[in-house]
Amino acid sequence: MKAERTDEAARLEALRQYQILDTEPEPAYDSLAQLAAYICGTPIALVNFIDEHRQWFKARVGLDVPEMPRNVGLSYLCQERRDIVVVTDTLADEKLANNPVVTADPYVRFYAGVPLITPKGDVLGTLCVLDRVPRELSQKQIEALLALSRQVISQLELRRNLAEVSRYAEEVKQTETSLLESEQRLKLALQTARLGSWQLDLKTEELSASNQCKVNFGLPTEAEFSYGMLFERIHPDDRAYVQESVKQALENKTDYQAEYRNIWSDGSVHWMLARGRGVDEVNDPTRMIGVTLDITERKQVEEELKRQNRRSQLFAQITVKIRETLQIEEILQTTVTEVQKLLQADRVLVFQLWADGSGTVVQEAVLPGWPVMLEKNLFDPCFKEEYLERYRQGRVSAMEDIESAHIQPCHREFLQQFGVRSNLVVPILVREGIWGLLLAHQCATPRRWNSFEIELLQQLANQIGIAISQAQLLEKETCYSQELARSNAELEQFAYVASHDLQEPLRMVTSYLQLLEHRYKSKLDANADQFIAYAVDGAHRMQTLINELLKYSRVSTRGQPFVPVDCNAVFKQAIANLQVAIEESGAVITHDPLPEVIADATQLTQVFQNLISNAIKFRQNLTPQIHIGVVKGGVDADRQSLNVIPAKDEWLFWVRDNGIGIESQYAERIFVIFQRLHGRTKYPGTGIGLAICKKIIERHGGNIWVESEPGQGSIFYFTIPDKAGKQS
Ligand code: ADP
Repeated sequence: MKAERTDEAARLEALRQYQILDTEPEPAYDSLAQLAAYICGTPIALVNFIDEHRQWFKARVGLDVPEMPRNVGLSYLCQERRDIVVVTDTLADEKLANNPVVTADPYVRFYAGVPLITPKGDVLGTLCVLDRVPRELSQKQIEALLALSRQVISQLELRRNLAEVSRYAEEVKQTETSLLESEQRLKLALQTARLGSWQLDLKTEELSASNQCKVNFGLPTEAEFSYGMLFERIHPDDRAYVQESVKQALENKTDYQAEYRNIWSDGSVHWMLARGRGVDEVNDPTRMIGVTLDITERKQVEEELKRQNRRSQLFAQITVKIRETLQIEEILQTTVTEVQKLLQADRVLVFQLWADGSGTVVQEAVLPGWPVMLEKNLFDPCFKEEYLERYRQGRVSAMEDIESAHIQPCHREFLQQFGVRSNLVVPILVREGIWGLLLAHQCATPRRWNSFEIELLQQLANQIGIAISQAQLLEKETCYSQELARSNAELEQFAYVASHDLQEPLRMVTSYLQLLEHRYKSKLDANADQFIAYAVDGAHRMQTLINELLKYSRVSTRGQPFVPVDCNAVFKQAIANLQVAIEESGAVITHDPLPEVIADATQLTQVFQNLISNAIKFRQNLTPQIHIGVVKGGVDADRQSLNVIPAKDEWLFWVRDNGIGIESQYAERIFVIFQRLHGRTKYPGTGIGLAICKKIIERHGGNIWVESEPGQGSIFYFTIPDKAGKQS
């Protein structure tokens, strides 16, 4: 009994294994179909195979189409029943009468089909005969049809065995081809894939090998070839591995596979792929059969791939380093060591050029035995005259052999001092021009630099160029901000010391002046009275100045921690401090609802006070109208018709007045300490107020600026970051 196999997936898999679908017509199948038609006397006979979607005709007589949809036709009956099906008249059966092959061309009235069942029980298709008229088959005809179907199966089996035999070859080829990228390479590989076959008697160690197998071992086809010879040809380092692989395969009854090196008589090394299998006759393998294939080229491709891989890794590594550190020394060091290893060059170095055309080797990786160039200051007049300009334009130079290259003799001599035989040079360019060179040297032999190597070096030089530019910028920036911080600190120190230390003598001057005023007023002449008045006034002003200066210096030294501050309270305090000026001027001060911000309350009060006080002080002949506005960035900023849109996480405040205004050219200057735009007699003041505001706002992480037009009033803006992310 044949095993029942209902699993459709398994059936399809089995069908695929026979590799019959979509193959060319073959005489063996064609004659079986013709015989069937002849024996049964029908005009149509088919050998079909049924896959997921269709019945495909391997052989057909009397029918033009190469295939039919699976659900059309009557072969499904056969497949379902797994037995011969004879339909003498399709029109007699209601179900069949509507089948498209019955109702339309080829108008089938008679059908007889035999399932094609494999030894494993899979129904792959049918052998069938059809007619356009009703018909019956005799017992003999049925037997003949069955016999023919067995012939079809035998053909299939034969085919599969052949396929099995060539499976090794296919697999081997596939292993090879899967590694190769382009179609061209694939073709090449297939051409060079010279498969040799061998058989080894495991008892006698008698080896029989095909000619190709001998060729694969570097032997002429007529040469004697023994197992001993074969073994001797295997690279000594690979022999144990090969033996072990064979042993394992025999023990585990698995396929043997090994990739090893052969050494030919001329000393050349060739990679071999060997596959084999123990042939098991009495449950104990006595022979091993297999194939060999020269895979040297594949190995080379693999090696090249590995190298490429390492190249991209190196490239990534250096790029990451550049992003991370900007430590030029470290970057250059990694570059030379890794490039030297990767290119297997005798020397790799970075040469930094100076303005006069000389240069210094700042990093070097050199193999032992070759002159060390590190830290050497070099000057090659030929280089300067002939080559520098070309490198400046980004040129790359790849010299295979300096002995035969067309170069200036002086340049050749210069290179020879360092044992250089072959030279690959790429420029390292930065924004301003050329910074230096990245070089690879081969000292022992000439060397042809391939495009990968040249490109790699170029890409690295580009990366290095970027890193150097960035590092230079960073250095400039750091220097600048260090300088700025230092001068600020000095200024603060000075302001503090000066204001603090001056207070004491000034107090003395003031009190003695007051004494003078008190005692001698009207007792000396009128001039003396006036002089004393000037001195007293001067002393007062100096007192104010010193107090202001002290306030200025204390912004950063005496600042309070930032806490949530209610701006309404801050505003009230500022107004209270300015009570007198407000009353005198009749100023009208309005404000938006004020939020809570994270700030130093005292300092914020000072900002409001200074700005409102200026708004009153620099008024025109009008009642001062002052408005304090505020918006939160990102929330309601667009509600206002502002010229400025604050950032998402900050408050934008402004103090708007209808005063005299400021010419735009002074908009920045007024925030600098002691800078004033008017004489003291017209508008008294010290020129420190806005400098203090700026310092306070900057301490809070904000900005302050003014927008104004002379005669049109001013708007002083300042921002306070909303550090705690609070909403009003
Ligand atoms: P002071 O008010 O003591 O002169 P500030 O540092 O507060 O010093 O101001 C610097 C200068 O900026 C002022 O002298 C004035 O010329 C100008 N200024 C400041 N605020 C206003 C304003 N609201 N309107 C017009 N000019 C102003």
